[in-house]
Amino acid sequence: MTVLVTGGAGYIGSHTVRALVDKGRSVVVLDNLQKGHKQAVKGADLVIGDISNEELVTEIIKKYDVTSVIHFAADSLVEESMMEPRKYYHNNVIKTIKLLDAILKNSINKIVFSSTAAVYGSPKEVPIQENIELKPTNVYGRTKRMIENVLEDYDMAYGLKYIALRYFNAAGACVTGEIGEDHSPESHLIPIILQVALGKRDKLIIYGNDYHTKDGTCIRDYVHVSDLAEAHILALEALEGGKDSTIYNVGNGKGFSVKEIVLEIEKFIGKEIPKEISLRRPGDPDILIASIEKIKKELGWHPKYTLYDIIETAWRWHNSHPQGFEE
Ligand code: UDP
Repeated sequence: MTVLVTGGAGYIGSHTVRALVDKGRSVVVLDNLQKGHKQAVKGADLVIGDISNEELVTEIIKKYDVTSVIHFAADSLVEESMMEPRKYYHNNVIKTIKLLDAILKNSINKIVFSSTAAVYGSPKEVPIQENIELKPTNVYGRTKRMIENVLEDYDMAYGLKYIALRYFNAAGACVTGEIGEDHSPESHLIPIILQVALGKRDKLIIYGNDYHTKDGTCIRDYVHVSDLAEAHILALEALEGGKDSTIYNVGNGKGFSVKEIVLEIEKFIGKEIPKEISLRRPGDPDILIASIEKIKKELGWHPKYTLYDIIETAWRWHNSHPQGFEE
């Protein structure tokens, strides 16, 4: 009974692998290392390769006796997805369909899928519930929505049971400090602020202060990466226990503005972060806050980490690994 984790060398993937291994689960990672890091994979075998390689996927399934899949491998930069849609449709949609076909051919019918709050677009009401109308405003969100549709159809036709998790803003790092966030280029708010604090960047650029929010900066729901990891484990266990396919938001259920995040980090490190207000970044909605009632009720999941914990663990990671992973 091995879990195949695609993209398990990436940020959320590696924290999930770590959590699975800590629970005594047997795990094998398939990652092409385009964005992932070898050193991020702890306690599991890493196979370097592509999710669309049916022969390789089949070989892994047979060799490790894989019985379920957690599928992270994807491109996830919103801006890039608008400039290079072909890359996103190819990597996130076509390759995922190939992976699904390969696992079905090998009689695997359980998958946990990484989806995103980007499927919602800019909803008028928060907290956002899973059943509202989806209007993704960027290609990245559309590719994830497409796969949610594929999963629904594959369930009906072929009995593929899935749980899609729509992540809000993943942040923080493993409490042990061994693994953390290492994107290149980095585009996320919290690591960027910490890089400024560490002198790796001159200043933080705040993308717009004319949003319809209390202080004019965007509000997001930041969820600790280890809480996210736990949600994947509960989702997997639910599928293994016979749960029917469904979709859950995974967030903290609380919103913080960009200015509030900066202030919290300044308080934590005890110094001011140089910053400058600039134009809006295209495609940023005013407010995204998750309703997490469904996952709480059905899976018994709840976020254990606060914003302070997110900042504390992220700081520990960035401070001890200013250059990120070595490879
Ligand atoms: N943000 C910012 N400056 C940065 C990076 C991000 O002002 O250098 C803002 C961004 O506009 C958004 C919020 O911080 O409102 C969170 O952005 P991030 O890229 O971390 O996550 P997203 O919400 O886009 O998934």
